[in-house]
Parts: sequence; C-alpha cells; structure tokens
Amino acid sequence: MMNPSYTDTRLLIDNVWCDAASGKTIDVLNPATGKVIGTVAHAGIPDLDRALAAAQKGFEVWRKIPAFERASLMRKAAAIVRERAEAIARLMVMEQGKPFAEARVETLLAADIIEWFADEGRRVYGRVVPARNLQAQQLVLKEPVGPVAAFTPWNFPINQVVRKLSAALASGCSFLVKAPEETPASPAELIRAFVDAGVPAGVVGLVYGNPAEISSYLIPHPVIRKITFTGSTPVGKQLASLAGAHMKRATMELGGHAPVIVAEDADIAFAAKIAGGAKFRNAGQVCISPTRFLVHNSIREAFSRELVKQAQGIKLGDGLAEGTTMGPLANARRLTAMSAVVENALATGATIETGGERIGSDGNFFAPTVITNVPLEADVFNSEPFGPVAAVRGFDTLEDAIAEANRLPYGLAGYAFTQSFRNVHLLSQQLEVGMLWINQPAAPWPEVPFGGVKDSGYGSEGGTEAMEPYLVTKAVSVMAV
Ligand code: NAD
Repeated sequence: MMNPSYTDTRLLIDNVWCDAASGKTIDVLNPATGKVIGTVAHAGIPDLDRALAAAQKGFEVWRKIPAFERASLMRKAAAIVRERAEAIARLMVMEQGKPFAEARVETLLAADIIEWFADEGRRVYGRVVPARNLQAQQLVLKEPVGPVAAFTPWNFPINQVVRKLSAALASGCSFLVKAPEETPASPAELIRAFVDAGVPAGVVGLVYGNPAEISSYLIPHPVIRKITFTGSTPVGKQLASLAGAHMKRATMELGGHAPVIVAEDADIAFAAKIAGGAKFRNAGQVCISPTRFLVHNSIREAFSRELVKQAQGIKLGDGLAEGTTMGPLANARRLTAMSAVVENALATGATIETGGERIGSDGNFFAPTVITNVPLEADVFNSEPFGPVAAVRGFDTLEDAIAEANRLPYGLAGYAFTQSFRNVHLLSQQLEVGMLWINQPAAPWPEVPFGGVKDSGYGSEGGTEAMEPYLVTKAVSVMAV
C-alpha cells in the first residue's frame, strides 16, 4: 500500500481550524516506527475560553434547529465520513498502529453510528400524564442538557468520539471534545465531516493539550452541563468526583477485565477462534477485550493449544503493510506494561506458552502472548492488561467460574461458550457485567446498550439509553382558565 502523508492537526474553535494561541504543539509518533510524523496543537486556557464561548453560542443555535433538520445534517456528515473512509483510516493506522482493515471498519461503523443516532434524535418523545383535574394538562418535556465536554482515548480514536458526539448532537446539545493527543488526526477528520456537512459554528469544538489541565478547567466551568469520559478507572473516578462536586451529569466508560467462560460442552476450536480473534484485535487495547480465560478443567489443555495456534497465526507488522493482522502497541507505555505483566506472571509461577516479549527494536511491537497455569494473585488476573495477553485458568464448576468472573471490581464485558441452556441461563442471571456475548464475538452495534457496572463506570453509549444522559426532563402543568 502506498505510504500516504500524515497531516498536522489543529484545534477547531467556532468552526475555524486554528493553532493554539501560544503556538505550542505536541509531536505525534508512528507506533510502528517510533518516529515523529506530525504535530497536534496544544490548547491553553485562552483557547479553552474561546472554545467554551463558542460551545455556549453553538448550543443556543443548535437547540433551536428542529430534530428533523439536525438529523439531515448528521446524515450528511455520515455520508462524508463514508466517502473519505479510506483516507481517514490510513491516518488512523499511522498514528495508532492498528491494521488498515480494522481502521477502515472503525471509520465506516462511525457513519452507521451517526445515522442511527440521527434517527434516534427524531424519536425523543415527551409524554402527557393524565391530570387529576380535567381542566389541566400535564406535559413531560425532554430538553437538551446543554454544552457537553467529552474526553476520549487513543485506542479507538474515532469510535470513542463518535458515540458521544452523535448522542449529544441528536439530543440538541453542543459538543466540545478533548480528543487523544497521541492519535489526533483521525478524530479531527470525523469532526471535519460535521463542519463540512454544514453544522453551525460552535456546535462542535475540538481541542487537545494537557488532559488533566483541560478536564480540570472544563468540568467545573459553568458553560459545561454534562461530561462524558472513556479511559481508565482511576482517571474516571477523579473526573466523576470533580463532576459530582460541581453537580454535572457524567457518563463513565472505564476499564474492564472481561472473563471468557468456556464450559465443558463448548466447541473448543470455535471458542478459541472467536475469543482468540477478539483477544488480539487492536493488539488487545480494547476495554471489552477478553482477558481472563476461564476454561473447564476437562478441556483446558486442548483449549490452550488452540489458543496458542491462534496467537501464532497472527501476522505482526505495520498496519499499512499487506497481510498484517496485528499492529504495534499504540504507545511505548503499553510495551513497558506488557513486559511487567509477563515478568510478574513468571514470578508467580505461570507458564508463557507463546510470545511474552517485545519484537524488534523499532516501534512498539509485542508478540501475541498466551499464559497458562496463572495463579489468582498474578497481576494479569487482577489489573486490566490492555494489551495482547491472554491468561488461562481452569475451573471445575460453572458456579466457580462465575464467582471468579465476579471477583474483580470491574464489570464491563463478559463472554461465554456453551451449548447448554442451563449454563446460558445461569450466566445471564449471575455475571456482573454490562454486556455479555455468548457463543459469539462482541457485537457493540449502536442500537444495543454499551456500558459497564461496578468500577467499569455508568451510563450507556448505545441503545435508546444512550440519549437519556444528554436530556433533561421538564414537567409543565397547564390549567385552562
Ligand atoms: P491513563 O490512565 O493516563 O489515560 C487513559 C486516558 O485518559 C487517556 O486517553 C488520557 O489522555 C486520559 N486522561 C488521563 N488523565 C486525564 C485527566 N486528568 N483528564 C482527562 N483525561 C485524562 O493511561 P494511558 O497510558 O493513556 O492508558 C492506559 C490505561 O488506560 C489502560 O490500562 C486502560 O485501562 C485505560 N484505557 C482505557 C480505555 C477504554 O477504552 N476504556 C482506552 C484507553 C485507555
């Protein structure tokens, strides 16, 4: 594939693409080479003040545009994203590292998400509540909450923005996002599609900079009425408490540590293929990535062998190179984290069946890794690995597997493989997760709720539930006099 050129990324304030007032920028690296490929503008407080004023102005305009017209502008933006998908996906690969096919799917799915929310915005119904006095009418009205501040991470540079952006815009809110500094160009192209579609000035804003500085300025700011964050649980807790202190609504999509329960009656090859495929997608840097493989002891060895085969069949390389099925880790921090996970597993007596090491010295390549005989106290079974590491443990009864799955404070995704209705019933009722996929890979379509429980956060970014956080309710009672 031709090596395209990467573009520097600027801020979007009041529908104008601009540098930071200070002129400050941050370097962007290609994780496949470790080399600088461009820069992103680093916003300071004066830039944030302008972006906030624009978001306030944009909200006043956008909320007055009928839902039908908002939907058609959003559909136009979706069409532009689709038209530009190949070029956008290439930018994403260069800054994030994932294989081109994955980047392309993420970009095309963004267009679907925009369209789904555009239509959902046309179905934000209030209601009429029967009054006790027949002279009265009691109305329940749904209104947009106001300007939204969003904070999104680098693992799915477009997907993490588009769910929030689409729900906000469909509800009539304006939207100011601090997108990821490490992967800035592809989310900027998503935002560009909305500008090019004709969304009025201030409806959408885009900034980058120091994440802690920006969130601590935006969250308490009186213009901002709601915040939404995707990232790690510790950061989510900090932002949620700041939001709480200022009585701002919040949606938190945080970390997970997804159990994969493979029951005695599962089809071993099928389970290993589906769960293994899901494990190594985006090099495991996925909040819903399968991480704790809990396998019935009678099939544990056979399953592990199949999983190792899956891992060894992966073609590691630059995401733009033909045939690559797993790219580098998105940043050097993940390399360090993966080495620590493996070292700790070895120290606790686990077996590295395959992988376990960095590959080469350029770029952030780490081999797809399968670890077996993992003791419960190993880090990999307790903290989210967020990388291409699958850890396998055996179990004797499904009840034991469920207890292990629920042991951690996380509760985002779960997976199971079984052919028994009894097992399905038990798993559906007892697993403490926000999403459960049985005998299939994750299918996080926009029409289905997406979110976690416990330390994995609150609020949903899919399904009809995803609109609610962007709406406030007003009860209006009118008496005929
Ligand atoms: P990190 O915890 O420093 O940052 C995670 C994300 O939060 C980044 O996008 C970062 O820019 C943002 N962030 C950090 N501090 C912030 C603040 N004060 N205000 C606003 N945003 C802030 O770690 P990292 O090295 O970037 O990522 C590693 C960990 O983050 C992983 O272990 C994983 O658990 C988590 N993570 C989760 C997701 C997800 O999809 N849920 C995505 C990326 C990272």
